Amino acid sequence: MDLKEHRSIAIDGPSGAGKSTLAKRLAKELGYHYVDTGAIYRTVALAALRTGVDPADSNGVAALLPGVNVTMDYDGDGLQHMYLNGEDVTAAIRQNEVSAGASKAAAIPAVRDFLLETQRGLARNFDVIMDGRDIGTVVLPDADVKIFLTASPEARAERRWRELLERGQQADKVQILQEVMERDARDSGRATAPLRQAEDAVLADTTELDFEGSFRLLLGIIQERLGGTPNE
Ligand code: C5P
Repeated sequence: MDLKEHRSIAIDGPSGAGKSTLAKRLAKELGYHYVDTGAIYRTVALAALRTGVDPADSNGVAALLPGVNVTMDYDGDGLQHMYLNGEDVTAAIRQNEVSAGASKAAAIPAVRDFLLETQRGLARNFDVIMDGRDIGTVVLPDADVKIFLTASPEARAERRWRELLERGQQADKVQILQEVMERDARDSGRATAPLRQAEDAVLADTTELDFEGSFRLLLGIIQERLGGTPNE
């Protein structure tokens, strides 16, 4: 008997590589559940910021965890909503200071342990396309498809800048590039579950590709790995 009932696709890579937008669209195309794991770390960071705890303070954040209840659900459009102790914080976790806080809180081993089972549980119950930093290496080492999605820091900063503008938020491009590079360094340099390409992951570089081109590239990789044929 095949013990693995559900299929899983892991997409890892640095911030701003387009993981969530692409994974969302791929999930729709394939009929999978999209799981944005960054949103889960962001929710923990928000909990810390709201209580005045520095997200980099490992003892302070670890002490908060027993009182932090992180849950999620999906609306009719497949948008993942995040709840912090029952409150919908889907919009609040997208603020810039939460982005920086999330990458600090994510370096704390107690935070990663706290969130691991939530992520694995989703993959046991649904066909998932999950994006993050350590999905292929730590969370779902047996994922059916692993993709390491990247683009140059400049291309990623440019995309982040446009995204913020579209949301009506003022943003400085130079500062965003700086933040992207700082987050890259934190995500790749941390001791626990650092950002790195799994040995069996396919590398996809989207620096020169637009959304449609990136989507086709990833869909092709997934269909080849799952043994399907591309549908035009
Ligand atoms: O993907 P997103 O930018 O929303 O993630 C926020 C932060 O959470 C990242 O900078 C990263 O430090 C952390 N993260 C992580 N592992 C994941 C997903 C996100 O460490 N699987």
